[in-house]
Amino acid sequence: MTEPRPTPLPESSGRFFLPGPTAVDSRVLAAQARAVIGHRGPGIRTLVARIQEGLRTIFRTDRPVFVSTSSATGLMEAAVRNGVRDRLLALVNGAFSERFAKIARACGKEVEVLEIAWGEAHEPGAVAERLRGGGYDAVSVVHSETSTGALNPIAEIASAVREASDALMLVDSVSGLGGADVRTDEWGLDFVLAGSQKALAVPPGLAFAVASKRMMERAESLPDRGCYFDLPQFRRKMEKLQTPNTPAVTLLYALDEQLGRIREEGLDARLSRHRAMAERCWAWVEDASARAGLDLRVLAPAGRRSPTVTCVLLPEGLRGPDVVGSVTERGWVIAPGYGKLREGAIRIGHMGEHTVPELDDLLEVLAESLSVTRAPAAGGA
Ligand SMILES: *Cc1c(COP(=O)(O)O)cnc(C)c1O
Repeated sequence: MTEPRPTPLPESSGRFFLPGPTAVDSRVLAAQARAVIGHRGPGIRTLVARIQEGLRTIFRTDRPVFVSTSSATGLMEAAVRNGVRDRLLALVNGAFSERFAKIARACGKEVEVLEIAWGEAHEPGAVAERLRGGGYDAVSVVHSETSTGALNPIAEIASAVREASDALMLVDSVSGLGGADVRTDEWGLDFVLAGSQKALAVPPGLAFAVASKRMMERAESLPDRGCYFDLPQFRRKMEKLQTPNTPAVTLLYALDEQLGRIREEGLDARLSRHRAMAERCWAWVEDASARAGLDLRVLAPAGRRSPTVTCVLLPEGLRGPDVVGSVTERGWVIAPGYGKLREGAIRIGHMGEHTVPELDDLLEVLAESLSVTRAPAAGGA
């Protein structure tokens, strides 16, 4: 009888440029192959204590970092259930910020949307204006909009929100944290959430969040927080260096290993590496337009681009899924546009463990794929 075999690791995880999940280092993957331990014993406390230290550095916070065994969307729901009393102002500029509004509606909250074009970033002045007299008790925003590659200026928005109202600032930094700077305490963010599988380059399945004192007080005052994402319960357990329920212990091993690697690289160096990859990607797009006559464009405006993901608009005659397919045939992975941008764009996730040289190799393959993909369309037109 033949046993089904696990798929072998790709020859080079340096070829996997999805904007999440991202490639995981083989040592981090290997760290999962250890004996499971109980989640109420002494072993877990040592592990959670070490993980806390690593995560606090990345969130730049002195507060506890909650660890949830769920995907990041779970903690978006936690943000709503623990942070929104009646009325949420949802800042929408892409698919994930739209999801935030949808979750709030599904949780029975009143939601008003401040929507700008997908690809653009929200500006603090407009947010403050919308907030005044609106009776909102929370604002949701996505830091790095993975669907468009736009980066919202969350420090400035948080400060404008604080000046205009006493609404809580709920931030999804799922594809930001670990690749884009997040200063939770300094910027006065009330809730920041992230997932394991984006810039942190840990396998999917864990999510992390920090809640401000104001956020915890709000949570205590809300009667219908539900059960699985009850933040006061997370806090009570975290005081004992535990989680509310059985955590994905093997993912905690992977996280522990990866946090060690991030510490070794240094957070600032890690953020610079992401910045360098993003800049290389944007320069390549400009160069491709100038040199190869390919009418490519980075969707997000300069100054408001995410260091972790770039969405590139394709010229007429090129389809996102076709370009992705051609890249796939060459053994590499990128993503098409997301949602309504699927047909006309591609997305490159330059985050996690990738380096500029690896990105250069991808861009070379992409250049080739674009010209091959374009040829029949041009001939047939
Ligand atoms: C990926 C992503 C999510 C959803 O994360 P899941 O782990 O799939 O639930 C939410 N917001 C942003 C910005 C993301 O990039």
